[in-house]
Amino acid sequence: MSDLDAYRLKARAWLESMKPTFGKHACHGLPEDEHLAMGRRYQSAKFDAGYAGITWDPAVGGQGLSPLHKMVFEEEEMPFAMPSGYFGVSLGISVPVVMRFAEDRTWARERGIAALRGEEIWCQLFSEPSGGSDLAGLRTKAEPDGNGWKLNGQKLWTTYAQHSDYGVIIARNDPTVAKHKGLTFFWLDMKSPGVTVRPFRLAAGDAHVNEVFFDDVKLTDGQRLSPVGGGFGTAIATLAIERYSASDPAGFGPPLDLFIALAKDCMIGGRPAIEDGRIRSVIARIHSLRAGLESINTRAMLAMAAGMEPGPEGALNKLVSVRSRQKLSELAIDLMANLGLGWDRDGWLKDDWVASWLSAPTMRIAGGADEMLLNTIAERILGLPQDHRPDKGVPFNEIPV
Ligand SMILES: Cc1cc2nc3c(=O)[nH]c(=O)nc-3n(C[C@H](O)[C@H](O)[C@H](O)COP(=O)(O)OP(=O)(O)OC[C@H]3O[C@@H](n4cnc5c(N)ncnc54)[C@H](O)[C@@H]3O)c2cc1C
Repeated sequence: MSDLDAYRLKARAWLESMKPTFGKHACHGLPEDEHLAMGRRYQSAKFDAGYAGITWDPAVGGQGLSPLHKMVFEEEEMPFAMPSGYFGVSLGISVPVVMRFAEDRTWARERGIAALRGEEIWCQLFSEPSGGSDLAGLRTKAEPDGNGWKLNGQKLWTTYAQHSDYGVIIARNDPTVAKHKGLTFFWLDMKSPGVTVRPFRLAAGDAHVNEVFFDDVKLTDGQRLSPVGGGFGTAIATLAIERYSASDPAGFGPPLDLFIALAKDCMIGGRPAIEDGRIRSVIARIHSLRAGLESINTRAMLAMAAGMEPGPEGALNKLVSVRSRQKLSELAIDLMANLGLGWDRDGWLKDDWVASWLSAPTMRIAGGADEMLLNTIAERILGLPQDHRPDKGVPFNEIPV
């Protein structure tokens, strides 16, 4: 048995032992504050058991294992519906960047350990009302102010900002240079005077995303995580960290087996739906798409095991898997007829077709909208010419709004 297989079995056994306390049934229907408290206890248990910060340096509370170990743990954790969502952005994106770029190493280490234990949460303040796909087009301003900086503007879609202690933010310090060049990256205390967080509700009923406003928010120069004007490079480093996460060919929705079971139970024209040629053809199509993704993922994991970087083919994952999830969920709801109108507000994405369908559109946007993934596939996999970029090299304040 390989080291990775042994790790998988050990992780599975640990997760099984945690299931009665933190699993799907233990968390179902909890009000958000209790759910968050449960999440913090689960995160702390993960830390104690050595499953938090799997790839992080042991000097900062991590386990010093490979990205493959992290992906294996995430794959195993997924079916349990543990309350770990609060820490995804924090530990997956924001804190690793702070650990890498903050000058005060002792402070960064303390933040890292507090975040790994679930005691502190960090958010990522990138997207704005003017557009999230074009990160370099952001408008929030960071202006010099005494020895530090003053922040004014608005971010949008900030996941769990309402529960966050800190955030990482990118802002425009110089509008007179090309849009990628006038940006600077900072961390900030979310309780600073002038920060206003307003949650808003998504179609699936949850309000985990927020608008965040900045009115003359003071930052010290010590909060800067990039050279002045060098924030875009730091932001790209941030986004690259996300590449080492488990993917799910079911698009984080229900597996195909669940649809097949439903199609055996439901009737079309007096006969089980599973006998209907149209249903069978959808099943075959989704099976082939997901099998293709599984092969791509296996290849990526083998490449990583051989010491190589995952390639741009990862862009296919979210695009294909979430579209297939949306289509399958829609068909499942149709098959369920009147029962498809029932909505459990706490329904779980991986076994509740309505919950899966209602939240699929946001997943087609979050972390890169479909069209942007298509651009990546066109340019980086197929080698097609670059997208039209009329604002390339133009000073930001001369780009027509
Ligand atoms: C649930 C959820 C959680 C999120 N969490 C966070 C978070 O924690 N932090 C954060 O910073 N952001 C977060 N986001 C924001 C997310 O990154 C953006 O929504 C995403 O990047 C798209 O930006 P936008 O919504 O502003 O759409 P826009 O960028 O305005 O795009 C609108 C449409 O135009 C298309 N489009 C844009 N440019 C092109 C192009 N060049 N070619 C072809 N089509 C194009 C897009 O694909 C899209 O369909 C979250 C979003 C969601 C839905």
